[in-house]
Amino acid sequence: MSFDVIVIGSGFGGAITACRLAQVGAKVLILERGRRWDNKSGPGVTKYPEDLLDPWIWDQERPELLNGWTDLRMFKGMSVVVGAGVGGGSLIYANVSIIPPDDVFKDPWPAEISGKVLRPYFQLAGDVLDLQYLPTNQENPRVQLLNEAAAKIGAAGQPLPIAVSFRQDLDLDPAHPPTEADSYEHVNKHGAKQGTCVHLGRCDFGCPVKAKNTLDVNYLFLAEQTGLAEIRPLHMVTRIEPQGTGYRVSFDRLGNGLRMPGSEDAGRVIIAAGSMGSTELLLRCRDQFKTLPNVSRFLGKNWSSNGDFLTPAFYPQRNIYPRVGPTISSGINFLDRSRGGQSFIIENGGIPNVLDMHMQASLAAGIKNHPFQQLIAWLQSQLQGKDDAITHLMPWFANGVDAGNGECRLKRPLWIFGNLRLDLKWEVIKSIPAFQTEINTQVELSNKTGGVALPAPWWKNALITPHPLGGCNMGTTSQNGVVDHAGEVFAYKGLYVMDGAIIPTPLGVNPSRTICALAERAAEIMVKSA
Ligand SMILES: Cc1cc2nc3c(=O)[nH]c(=O)nc-3n(C[C@H](O)[C@H](O)[C@H](O)COP(=O)(O)OP(=O)(O)OC[C@H]3O[C@@H](n4cnc5c(N)ncnc54)[C@H](O)[C@@H]3O)c2cc1C
Repeated sequence: MSFDVIVIGSGFGGAITACRLAQVGAKVLILERGRRWDNKSGPGVTKYPEDLLDPWIWDQERPELLNGWTDLRMFKGMSVVVGAGVGGGSLIYANVSIIPPDDVFKDPWPAEISGKVLRPYFQLAGDVLDLQYLPTNQENPRVQLLNEAAAKIGAAGQPLPIAVSFRQDLDLDPAHPPTEADSYEHVNKHGAKQGTCVHLGRCDFGCPVKAKNTLDVNYLFLAEQTGLAEIRPLHMVTRIEPQGTGYRVSFDRLGNGLRMPGSEDAGRVIIAAGSMGSTELLLRCRDQFKTLPNVSRFLGKNWSSNGDFLTPAFYPQRNIYPRVGPTISSGINFLDRSRGGQSFIIENGGIPNVLDMHMQASLAAGIKNHPFQQLIAWLQSQLQGKDDAITHLMPWFANGVDAGNGECRLKRPLWIFGNLRLDLKWEVIKSIPAFQTEINTQVELSNKTGGVALPAPWWKNALITPHPLGGCNMGTTSQNGVVDHAGEVFAYKGLYVMDGAIIPTPLGVNPSRTICALAERAAEIMVKSA
């Protein structure tokens, strides 16, 4: 075996397990389909996308040609957006790192997992990610609006822990936000170089001053520091098969518009390609290549969108400045099911200025009918053109508990024609009460504060989630799950799934911290059993 461990994917689950195993002396190979991204380009490193012609798109069908920042999969009734690159979803995420309520961890979660059991691992991950709160002297108008709206409906706004580095001595005037020059360059507690947040509002597109505590400046950095972990970007894993006492992992190396096949062997393999990626890979190995035929029949079932719903609200009389500040920094917690019996949290989303830069650039390039164009034109008309419409928008973002009844499967685009692709069977009907309660609350929060909520009227047929969960669910046996409580695949010793794919129920909160805690715990079990 060339390696002790091969980790597929470098998001939260992959980075943490790779780091912990390398730290105890294992030789670890991390195969990541995406690029290495940074705030400056260099050999083997692409600068975060910004301009129209930058590599924005990941295309799972043609990754040799399109291997950019975002993988958007559009299924019937539900689209899913995830990141691609060294650091996985930490590159694109809004940094919110919160712990779900204890009552999430009940059946069908295996009895070994509870809020109490996970507590030390939540803490451990929070320390490595160096979570912080938005300093009070840097609160933006979205925080103030959220607090005011919460109070008006008898709830309370609360700051959320976010994986962002701040300097405390910076005051914020949202009309004249700080510039990149105000960021303080420093070496973080792990030894990696970072800057501090200057409220550029671009968390989801790569922070130009590296204020985000992404995995490449903590877990992956620590893994590489051991000298035992090797990261290979632009290596898309296509297949896994048993080999000797371990597994052979086949991949396509992506470069110059070509796919170059290769493979490596290891005694242990950790699939950490995210909810969609890990599920697709195991489905292909079970059903298409038949290299892992005994993977549970439960594979693909009980997939959840984590009940995510975004409602923009328009405030003609109020400046919201959604482009200023970290994308999310506070929330209103309704996890006690006090509203309509539903469990959810509402957060103060932001609008990255890259989005309207993109729209302006598209219009200038003569591209007509940009998706935001009509909405912006209508908003502008409401302001009689006297102000910039986006300044008056508040994106209320909700995470909740949907029915968790989606199913991932492989399907050909046309009956028996075309290549097998990942498909998601999603029916909204059982989730409508959860989404409707979130929308009602977003509308109420807006109405009470002088805003006009604009939920998309067609939402039941066009949901979108950045928080896909499940597909390779944890269970107690292969009858009700794909992996056990430590992520080991039933019937395949030494083969693990460790990422959002193993979460068997919606969480009602942003999922990354739970994935971190499960990965820290599983890594500890793997180390003890080595
Ligand atoms: C815009 C946006 C904002 C978000 N904000 C938040 C937030 O504020 N808080 C929060 O908790 N969550 C947030 N999320 C969700 C969060 O990013 C995910 O829940 C999290 O990253 C999932 O972690 P993971 O380990 O399951 O997989 P990921 O982090 O998605 O990592 C999977 C990795 O595997 C790689 N991969 C996939 N297939 C293959 C293959 N075949 N071969 C090799 N590599 C492969 C992918 O490129 C990726 O790097 C956000 C997501 C988006 C898109």
